[in-house]
Amino acid sequence: MYRDFPFTIVDVAYLLNLHARHKNAASLDVDCPFCGEKKGKFNLNTKKNVFKCNRCGESGGMRSLYGRIYGLDNQAAYEEIKGALGRNEQAPSYQVRKREIAPKEPELPGAMPAPDHVRHKTYSMFFSMLVLADTHRKNLLKRGFTEQQIEENGYKSTPVFGYKKLTERLLAVGCTVEGVPGVYQDKDGEWTIHFSNKSSGFLVPVRNIDGLIVGAQIRLDHPYDGRKYIWLSSTNFNMGTSSGSPVHLAGSPGEKTIFITEGPLKGDLVHALSGRTFGCVPGANQYANLPPVFTGDETDGYAVAL
Ligand SMILES: [Zn+2]
Repeated sequence: MYRDFPFTIVDVAYLLNLHARHKNAASLDVDCPFCGEKKGKFNLNTKKNVFKCNRCGESGGMRSLYGRIYGLDNQAAYEEIKGALGRNEQAPSYQVRKREIAPKEPELPGAMPAPDHVRHKTYSMFFSMLVLADTHRKNLLKRGFTEQQIEENGYKSTPVFGYKKLTERLLAVGCTVEGVPGVYQDKDGEWTIHFSNKSSGFLVPVRNIDGLIVGAQIRLDHPYDGRKYIWLSSTNFNMGTSSGSPVHLAGSPGEKTIFITEGPLKGDLVHALSGRTFGCVPGANQYANLPPVFTGDETDGYAVAL
């Protein structure tokens, strides 16, 4: 609904005694009456009679510009604006609250993802430094794995402390940590691995089509946000790397028939129970990650969703 006002936003700015900084054809930049900004980031659109502060984000029409300062609804603001202009008065003085705006977090630089063989070397060494807690071993046995399969698949409990020490040890034995998902640089510029109390559980190595460990999932001891598994990842950390959600191959890389299932741990288990080879996609919506092997020879290459 269009409504004709007997005044403009410039009139309202005059009433409020807003100090003008720049004037353009269709806009007027003034000091912000909401946050106190004084560099012309508070913009009055004189064609549309609306305002917006590009610092504190306040925005709206002319009645709300007036009304928000004095705590009036649009109708009351309208009456006061009209009355003051009719009497050729300025509006009552008001306090501009200097609002502190938290500076935006600078975007942290990520690392270039390391090649598969580099990840494999680092993860293999890393997992060899970890142990599998009894509770996790029992959990895996209960799922149906044998001791030998647990050993071969390389499940390990997440470390509880000493993340930086572990990373130092990896570097000391010649492993590359930059670009390995989960690793990042802390505020002192030192490499460490992203684990937290929230992410305690056991690690499930994720192997690519060549059997190289290229990532890891964590089976959480205490699922949160409806998730039982999370990726070992350092995305959004300084020099961190996203897991990239790789597909896990459970079984023999050379196998002509590969079945598809969801989740690396489940894939390991169905492989352990059936002897068949499984491509394990991270989630139902992750099929785009499938490597070309799954679309191969039509006569004997097929996939079945479990
Ligand atoms: Zn403002």
